[in-house]
Amino acid sequence: MSSSQQAETKAEIVLANPRGFCAGVDRAIIIVEQALEKFGAPIYVRNEVVHNKFVVDGLRAKGAIFVNELDKIPAGSTVIFSAHGVSKAVRKEAEALGLTAFDATCPLVTKVHIEVGKLRQAGMEIVMIGHKGHPEVEGTMGQADNDAHPEDKAASLNMYLVETPDDVLKLAVKNPEKLAYVTQTTLSMDDAALVIDALKAKFPLIKAPKSDDICYATQNRQDAVKIMAKDCDLVIVVGSPNSSNSNRLREVAQNQGVEAYMVDNASYLKAEWLVGKKKIGVSAGASAPEVLVKEVITKLENLGAANITELHGVIESVVFQLPKNLVNVSENATLPANK
Ligand code: SF4
Repeated sequence: MSSSQQAETKAEIVLANPRGFCAGVDRAIIIVEQALEKFGAPIYVRNEVVHNKFVVDGLRAKGAIFVNELDKIPAGSTVIFSAHGVSKAVRKEAEALGLTAFDATCPLVTKVHIEVGKLRQAGMEIVMIGHKGHPEVEGTMGQADNDAHPEDKAASLNMYLVETPDDVLKLAVKNPEKLAYVTQTTLSMDDAALVIDALKAKFPLIKAPKSDDICYATQNRQDAVKIMAKDCDLVIVVGSPNSSNSNRLREVAQNQGVEAYMVDNASYLKAEWLVGKKKIGVSAGASAPEVLVKEVITKLENLGAANITELHGVIESVVFQLPKNLVNVSENATLPANK
């Protein structure tokens, strides 16, 4: 960046807290790294293990191969399911293909899968609030399969996806008295609340999850950005374009009336964004590593920003255990039988 391109600004930098990696992302990355260490490359990973380009590129360089479909994987190989979770059909396919599977599904996503299973066993129809096409939504919707009618699509049988209050208005269910809802874990809390209100207005008997499906990391990062954005005139969120929770952080800032951008790394920062700004807030999605935040701060400083303050926030102490079959394998240093 030449000096002529630098914005004339002495904006302060404020860091949101908490930001960046959550326990589910930490665990998913460790699972891939451990599998690579124990079994050697290549290790196959279905979809991006977490939605961050830097993380995925780093694991790829160590020998991970990312595939969208299991049939691209040679029989007998090791596959890891991403933090977003997979449908029952994908698990069955892995078994049928003779793959050794390790599950990096975040335990908080698994919690929603278990909810869906129990609700279906109780004969409930389920509304999922989530974003169409997101792998977590595909995995969770895929828990509602119906073994008695494998030819039918789960969604058309007993599970419905809605994204907005408008979708709720158009929604028709078979029995509004046996209806429940679940949500994607990384939704905007405010947007989800609007959809939930619409569901409750249309289906007064709808059953809510026992505890919130939107995860602690999503809630804490959105709360932190909300507090930070109040004092800022620009917010930068570090995150990859396909990261749901990072996109929601940018929206949370924008909904506070603040100019906000999401950047995959420092090279995407534009000097003109800083022009005339006094306070720049920085946060990072749950899949974005702190090293990228540091690079963004350095770039902001090079563009003339200064005086970094880190806000106080919730201290997170959540740690998730590794899958048992990986721990056992690590101890025995032998390949496990197929799951
Ligand atoms: S954002 Fe939440 S649900 Fe997703 S991996 Fe992190 S802790 Fe798990």
